[in-house]
Amino acid sequence: MSYTVTLIPGDGIGPEVTAAARTVIEATGFTIDWDVQEAGGDVIEKYGTALPEPALESIRRNGVALKGPITTPVGKGFSSVNVKLRKDLKLYANYRPAKTMPGVKSRYDNVDLIVIRENTEGLYSGLEHEVIPGVIESLRVITYEASERIVRFAFETARQYGRKKVTVVHKANILKLSDGLFLDVARLVAKDYHEIELEEYIVDATAMRLVMRPESFDVLVMENLFGDIISDLTSGLVGGLGVAPSANIGTHCAVFEAVHGSAPDIAGQGIANPTALILSAALMLRHLRQPEAAANIEQAVHTVLAEGKTITGDLGGNATTAEYAAAVAAVVESLQDDA
Ligand code: NAD
Repeated sequence: MSYTVTLIPGDGIGPEVTAAARTVIEATGFTIDWDVQEAGGDVIEKYGTALPEPALESIRRNGVALKGPITTPVGKGFSSVNVKLRKDLKLYANYRPAKTMPGVKSRYDNVDLIVIRENTEGLYSGLEHEVIPGVIESLRVITYEASERIVRFAFETARQYGRKKVTVVHKANILKLSDGLFLDVARLVAKDYHEIELEEYIVDATAMRLVMRPESFDVLVMENLFGDIISDLTSGLVGGLGVAPSANIGTHCAVFEAVHGSAPDIAGQGIANPTALILSAALMLRHLRQPEAAANIEQAVHTVLAEGKTITGDLGGNATTAEYAAAVAAVVESLQDDA
């Protein structure tokens, strides 16, 4: 059985890291028909936008996309491609696992948590106005519907992966109405998941506890701005953005991508670290109900990183993007043979 998946190589290091991810996916033996779509800074002249409609249409059609990073041109009139993607495709959940990896330098050796961020509302609703000169209001919108959807997604994720606890991160002590609603909804949803513990934690205290005892967290769920900040913090706990995968999930579509950007400073040199996109591809395979292929990719990445012989410059090695991908692919193939 094969699937058609939209592939957006993007710009900057995007084409290099997506090619690496393809090499590794091919090694699993799972066949994907790639529907390759143009997007990024290079196509603005041709389409008038960095995210052309054919790319969006392709994701709507296929339901799943693997996406390389895209440069957001600086200047007025250009909204972020990523914000547009999330809005147009209604990708309401941002899923960011953070797990310590052998061979990747970090301050901790026992982090294994998942941050789930509400992607559609909160302060990112884009509702800002000038009340009088010198006074600006930005509206932070929290709705019952979006809160229920994201908290249920968190509990479903916990159930799917056999996780024991969901921490609802909030500021309901100050934002009594909006975060009060988020918390009330969480308590209600939790009743449907008796086997999973519900923990409530204030966002500032969460930041401190993440730095002091990150191993005490399991699945965390929160609104948009808190999730934006906390998920970068948790990436930092396990070695930074270069190794952090992510998924943006909606009711009809899912887009898998690395957390890092297009890294224009090293683009075209063949030295980018493709780990984050390769791990995002593993998340995608799990979404496509290919858990074995996904687990093999994750294990192969861990093996190659732990050996430390074929790793990219950012991790202290001197392998090229393609050499690293070939090493991971070789381990994936050997895991297939062992099975
Ligand atoms: P960046 O993540 O592109 O780069 C930050 C630093 O990390 C750079 O020094 C870069 O060389 C390094 N780096 C990043 N990824 C790496 C990798 N895989 N291997 C080795 N080194 C890596 O962040 P930035 O410079 O702030 O952003 C550049 C552009 O990317 C901006 O236009 C931004 O809007 C865009 N961006 C896109 C996405 C996305 O498409 N999902 C995400 C973030 C930023």
